[in-house]
Amino acid sequence: SQGSPSDVILPGATLGVLGGGQLGRMFVHAAQSMGYRTAVLDADPASPAGLVSHHHVKADYLDAAGLAEMARLSQAITTEFENVPAQALDTLAATLPVAPAGAAVAVCQDRAREKAHFTGCGVSCAPHAVIETQAQLDAVQDELLPGILKTTRMGYDGKGQVRVKTRAELIAAWDDLKRVPCVLEKMLPLDFEVSVIVARGRNGDVVNFPVQHNLHRDGILAVTTVPAPGVSGAVAVEAVESARRIAASLDYVGVLCVEFFVLQDGRIVANEMAPRPHNSGHHTIDACDVSQFEMQVRAMANLPLVEPVLHSACLMLNLLGDLWFPGGIATQTEPDWPAVLALSGTHLHLYGKTEARKGRKMGHLTVTGSTPEAAHATALQAAAILG
Ligand code: ADP
Ligand code: MG
Repeated sequence: SQGSPSDVILPGATLGVLGGGQLGRMFVHAAQSMGYRTAVLDADPASPAGLVSHHHVKADYLDAAGLAEMARLSQAITTEFENVPAQALDTLAATLPVAPAGAAVAVCQDRAREKAHFTGCGVSCAPHAVIETQAQLDAVQDELLPGILKTTRMGYDGKGQVRVKTRAELIAAWDDLKRVPCVLEKMLPLDFEVSVIVARGRNGDVVNFPVQHNLHRDGILAVTTVPAPGVSGAVAVEAVESARRIAASLDYVGVLCVEFFVLQDGRIVANEMAPRPHNSGHHTIDACDVSQFEMQVRAMANLPLVEPVLHSACLMLNLLGDLWFPGGIATQTEPDWPAVLALSGTHLHLYGKTEARKGRKMGHLTVTGSTPEAAHATALQAAAILG
């Protein structure tokens, strides 16, 4: 049964995670280091999390037998994949604690619902229009152009979106996207992007990690820097307060990441949120006293949440598959890890994916330093080695 809100799930129990990607793998590592056993649901026999978990249930998210096996093995369930069908979470919630709940995940899966939720919390987002019908397309106001047309569901790493300058381009773009439900967002003049990760417990306690500065390349996160350079105290407070409010009003349990745009006029607007640990929080493993993955364990197990402390300045560099093909060579070669690890303050994380592909997230490198300048200097040296 769901148990009472104060029921603690102690180490030795088995924690289940839906999804076997790198986020699941780092969750499994954190849970295991605290003495938990783990169960992963992922159909891929070589999934990064499945490879390191006590149990690996190789089934689809909606496979009834697979879900029943997860429920039998686990004392609580979380997710690492935001597009896991909310129905799978609801099914599991009938017999054991599930965090976050399917209802909260469902909001995060749909850009239109997500934006409505932001607005309802008094958090501003980009001016936008929902486009599900020809009439809605016809009614789009000129002031939303130039804009970005995004599918409401399943987009990630810049996929499922098209930049449009004119009404003609908008019409063509919606056809290209097969006329699925979309959101047209006004293109905003960004200064830079930040994100805030919060964790919320069953009792309503909320903690937050410090604001993260995120640099994207080709729609994919490239570098996260903490402390976030160029962020005023007022912007940091607004981002943190907004993220905490968004989590509370979803009655959220678990780890939630909210991404924001900081505009050239200094205002901030919420972009999107993820109902799970986030790529922009990977540095917390090496630069904070409690990582985002340990926080996910604590939240789902009903253990105390404590405000995390950043003990080192850091930069997190995503390691994409491109690095395995320097200068466009044809055969996969391993980057020069010994040279990178010879630099003091480098922490290498590889996700156990054997095949490198362009744009595929293979791992990340966190560089810590006693000052932001020291971390930055080391990160530049590491980047030069990686090429
Ligand atoms: P994804 O789910 O692929 O991460 P996002 O909505 O976060 O999709 O968009 C990817 C990136 O595109 C953002 O990080 C930002 O750099 C840029 N972007 C998205 N929406 C806007 C906008 N309204 N104005 C300006 N840039 C945007
Ligand atoms: Mg994004």
